[in-house]
Amino acid sequence: MSDYYETLGVEKSASEQEIKKAYRKLAQQHHPDRNKDDKSAEEKFKKINEAYEVLSDKQKRQQYDQFGQAGNNNFSGFNNGYDFSGGVDFGNGFQDIFETFFGGGKQRTHGSQGKRGKDLEISIKLTFEEAVFGIEKDLRINKMDSCIHCKGKGAEPNTPIITCNECGGSGEISAIRQTLLGQIRTMQTCPRCHGSGRIPEKICSICNGKGREYAKKDLKIKIPAGIHNNSTLKIAGEGDAGAQGGRHGDLYVNITVENHKSFTRDNDDILLEQKIHLLQAVLGDEIEVPTLHGQIALKIPTGTKNDQTFRLKGYGVQKLNGIGKGDQYVTIKIIIPDKLSRKEKELYEELAKEAGLRQTSKPKDQGFLKKLLGY
Ligand SMILES: [Zn+2]
Ligand SMILES: [Zn+2]
Repeated sequence: MSDYYETLGVEKSASEQEIKKAYRKLAQQHHPDRNKDDKSAEEKFKKINEAYEVLSDKQKRQQYDQFGQAGNNNFSGFNNGYDFSGGVDFGNGFQDIFETFFGGGKQRTHGSQGKRGKDLEISIKLTFEEAVFGIEKDLRINKMDSCIHCKGKGAEPNTPIITCNECGGSGEISAIRQTLLGQIRTMQTCPRCHGSGRIPEKICSICNGKGREYAKKDLKIKIPAGIHNNSTLKIAGEGDAGAQGGRHGDLYVNITVENHKSFTRDNDDILLEQKIHLLQAVLGDEIEVPTLHGQIALKIPTGTKNDQTFRLKGYGVQKLNGIGKGDQYVTIKIIIPDKLSRKEKELYEELAKEAGLRQTSKPKDQGFLKKLLGY
């Protein structure tokens, strides 16, 4: 690669202003949109940008002056550091070119932050009541946790952390990538220090320098009252520990709720089927029905129909937001007796006559009728 100062056509002693001015002029001149037939213009344009990227940044320029290109791994590709403001008209289509070149501004993981730990996922089953009323659950999870021996630093205790010799402390190394527009230079996270720029002089004997190790961890998690079946709770920071002191991932707890033998949940409402005797439906009654909050009296009006539903306001599930409760709906299922005692049969017959369902004069030949009906 050519010298950055040469590329921009400025002296080594050039001021920030001079560099900016030179860059704008050259960028305009060699912009791919203006040189559609000239393949070399694209190449030139990229080189100009790369040079400006380094020379416009005080720190990068200093490093470049000191170490030259070989030692300079500290520029960040083409992702930032541009100055598009004022005077440069790149015309239409620049946006597309920009994205082709630079992949639309990818996020860098650089510096001393380290890599964030992985998110973890577990599944637990709750009883119907646990979901309705909430509960504290003890969980034991397997996770990458900070190494206790080295406190996550990856170094043997009392040994120093030194600058990574692979990337010179920048956390990144450069690589050449082939694209439709030719080769471009991209930055990759340093494989040695994983982007932290620093490595232990003597690695921890317990975790082999990873700074973390698999461990079982006991957790107490609070399941809120009213949680729904197939929902997921996020417990922030309880995932794997990050590498090189990076942030912890999160823990996702998938909740399934067991069925209840009599209640069904419909969001915050509770549905119950309640059997009653035909006579209770006909005559009306007061019965006791179960709710989540104990037995409660329910008045069955005279002439209640099958599948008729009664609402018990506020007897449902605590809403997840903590404000108010759902209702309970009791659907009546009328049981028709299929076996009658002699006395009951007589009485029903009485009723049937009363209701005009029986002819008052019965056929004389009872034996003939029995034969006909087969009993
Ligand atoms: Zn490194
Ligand atoms: Zn360790």
